[in-house]
Amino acid sequence: MSAAAVAPQQDLEDESLLHEALLQFLYLAPIGLTQTSIDGEISLINPLCAELLMPLLRGAELNNLFDALSSVAPDLAHRARTYAPAHGKICEGLEIHVSGGMDGKGAQILGLTLLKLDDTRLMAVLDDITQVVQRERELRHTQAWIQSISTGLLDVSYALMSLDAEGRVQGWNPGIRNLTGSEAEATVGHSYANFYPGGDTGGTRAAERLQEADRTGWSLEEGWVRRTDGERFWASCLIAPVSLDRAEAASTAERMYSLVIRDISEHREANEALRRSIWTDHLTGLANRRAFFEAAGTAMQRCARSRLLLSVVLFDADRFKAVNDTHGHAAGDAALRHLAAGLLATFGPDDVVARYGGEEFVVLMPGATAQVAHAVAERFRAHMASHPVTVDGVSLRCTVSAGVASAGKGVADIDVLLQRADTALYAAKAVGRDQVVDWNEAMVLRGRAAAPRAPR
Ligand code: GH3
Ligand code: MG
Ligand code: MG
Repeated sequence: MSAAAVAPQQDLEDESLLHEALLQFLYLAPIGLTQTSIDGEISLINPLCAELLMPLLRGAELNNLFDALSSVAPDLAHRARTYAPAHGKICEGLEIHVSGGMDGKGAQILGLTLLKLDDTRLMAVLDDITQVVQRERELRHTQAWIQSISTGLLDVSYALMSLDAEGRVQGWNPGIRNLTGSEAEATVGHSYANFYPGGDTGGTRAAERLQEADRTGWSLEEGWVRRTDGERFWASCLIAPVSLDRAEAASTAERMYSLVIRDISEHREANEALRRSIWTDHLTGLANRRAFFEAAGTAMQRCARSRLLLSVVLFDADRFKAVNDTHGHAAGDAALRHLAAGLLATFGPDDVVARYGGEEFVVLMPGATAQVAHAVAERFRAHMASHPVTVDGVSLRCTVSAGVASAGKGVADIDVLLQRADTALYAAKAVGRDQVVDWNEAMVLRGRAAAPRAPR
């Protein structure tokens, strides 16, 4: 065989190999592909394209692309016929809304690109773009939402910022100026940490906040935020990841976050006032019974765990009824305030001084032995005995009796400890008042319940 005869044969083989490769590509392509005549008659189609078109056929055969799409894109045949150029894109990314998804899970959207290859052939690229469209729609909604917040809330105490993966401020609303006094130049590109509670604690904490937001969907904290004029305000700061697909974003450095800072100073003051009123005795300003039992419970637990010392002293004003009867209730109140001030001045910062009842006071002394507690109680007793209070020009001498008890063997809870202190106090009254008496094993416990109760 001559060389001239071999060449065309080789060309043919090459061409069929190429054709084979093209068919294989068409078959495996992750998007729907089909080649049709100018009138839409299908000459080649890959499985995915057939799969996408199948639900539109309603039982008819899949021979013609325009027929298949006629119910959802009726003008397609016309557009192809009237497309004048010799070749080019008849349409690109045309959204075809198929009512009812293929799996019955709601509307499905197909994207169609139709190419005119030449006077006789068209190529269609079909893709399921339901998720892409949905995601774009969500993004538009989110953007519109953020826009409405950032413009709508300028007058109130909100600041909004967008942060990059490293926590650097990317965008902000003018609320940040109202709130912190910062200008854009000093804000954008810098770490958000400056605007976060305890911002001066540095980047580690800031990074932890972002990690928490990634992990749980948000990170919320309250604290002081500094203003550029040196003042500070109490703020709540919320960080949330801005991502429609967290799994995807987590793998890239594309992560974004939104940060909302709100001035909640007033809210905090109200909370603080409420907290104070819940835990404080109104007449004396001391801790109330509730606060005492709260502190005592914690102290008892710590005491049981670590064998720490713990003592209590129960005080009761002597013959106080007579003070009221002689000088009036207001004078009695003043005397109670005088006692409270004396207690605070005498006992240490770790001791919890509380008003236990009407003219009764209790002191919780973590770390104190009975001897130490006795010594301090005695100091207070002596002080009261020698320092009368003057009310409306009248000098009132108000003495106290005290009972001391310490945690140890046989003291299972705070009730037993208080019962022992009360028994010792009763003994102090019995031996003449104006005395401090320690509990001892020989004493018979008084039956008074020590759990929270009304003042006696
Ligand atoms: P004792 O030495 O035995 O303790 O005698 P006492 O008079 O102190 O004992 P008693 O329990 O009989 O009386 C307590 C008095 O304390 C009666 C009550 O009016 C008075 N008191 C209780 N709470 C208050 C208060 O908030 N203000 C005033 N002014 N008096 C109070
Ligand atoms: Mg009493
Ligand atoms: Mg009394």
